[in-house]
Amino acid sequence: MTLVLCICSTKKIIGERDMEFWRTPLNVADVSVPRGKVNVIDDRCKGCGYCVEYCPKGILELSDRFNVKGYHPPTVTDPEQCVDCKLCEMLCPEFAVWVVSQGEVAIES
Ligand code: SF4
Ligand code: SF4
Repeated sequence: MTLVLCICSTKKIIGERDMEFWRTPLNVADVSVPRGKVNVIDDRCKGCGYCVEYCPKGILELSDRFNVKGYHPPTVTDPEQCVDCKLCEMLCPEFAVWVVSQGEVAIES
């Protein structure tokens, strides 16, 4: 049996929701996490929930408010945790979501 190890050299960490270090990485001072600001045009949303379902950080949820079409547009529950992956922006079939990059922050050790 072949054991394959995948070592990612990128500095960006996407999908860190379930990641837990068993020790502090030796290069922790070199690692940074991108941040983004999510924007939603409420009245374009059709409430499909794709953005909510696939956000790797789980920080989107359908709100209680209604848009002009009678759907519940998404809201960001924890804006500080957005990792600027832009998956919500790419998946939205109505072009109702876009993300503005906010730079990178050092990872917490
Ligand atoms: S860019 Fe969108 S999908 Fe990615 S973490 Fe931020 S809210 Fe979630
Ligand atoms: S993917 Fe777009 S249309 Fe679907 S719920 Fe999210 S914002 Fe609304």
